[in-house]
Amino acid sequence: MMRPAAVLFDCDGVLADSEAVVNAIVAEDLTARGWPMTAAEAQAAFLGMALPDMIPRIEARVGPLPFGWGAGLSRLIAAAMMERTFAIPGAIAAVQAVAAAGVPVACASNSARMELAAKLRGLGLAEVFGHRVFSFEDVARAKPWPDIYRAAAASCSADPHDCVVVEDSVPGVRAGHAAGCRVLGFAHETPAALLAAHGAEPFTAMADLPGLLGIG
Ligand SMILES: [Mg+2]
Repeated sequence: MMRPAAVLFDCDGVLADSEAVVNAIVAEDLTARGWPMTAAEAQAAFLGMALPDMIPRIEARVGPLPFGWGAGLSRLIAAAMMERTFAIPGAIAAVQAVAAAGVPVACASNSARMELAAKLRGLGLAEVFGHRVFSFEDVARAKPWPDIYRAAAASCSADPHDCVVVEDSVPGVRAGHAAGCRVLGFAHETPAALLAAHGAEPFTAMADLPGLLGIG
């Protein structure tokens, strides 16, 4: 297997085991606004979606959201992440193994910029990604559009067709695929068959990642 020119990592559900915290915050907010939901229901409704894309769906249920709702929610999430960010088992070692092999790494997330920075700092991964970190705020269109993975590949001076994307959600897999990247689907929050149906090669253990990238 050819070594990739760069490896482009999603954050939530791939590096940070943040979905439980994020979904609890979203569920609490929406329940208070008259759309009762559990954290699990919030995950089912919004997994992999950027906040701006969630807003029309939410407003259809609860009416207009106050100005700055997304930024406020994002601040709450960033504060929670600053307190404690849980890593997906094996994810930090996998990123470090890729970087140690001399393959550039980037991070591309549908999180807000401040929230994403807090997660990467909390994981101790801010340094290895450097400036190659992209939030939906850095591109015209969030995932499932390919913009964010194209930007991440460019930051590594790589052609997207020579890059591997590591994703865990359907919108993320679609974004990586649309950008022309090979997509590895970490079957953590989403069933392997569903990731495969959208063009990903599913895997279930981060320890297997270096081998799947041909650097193991
Ligand atoms: Mg994700």
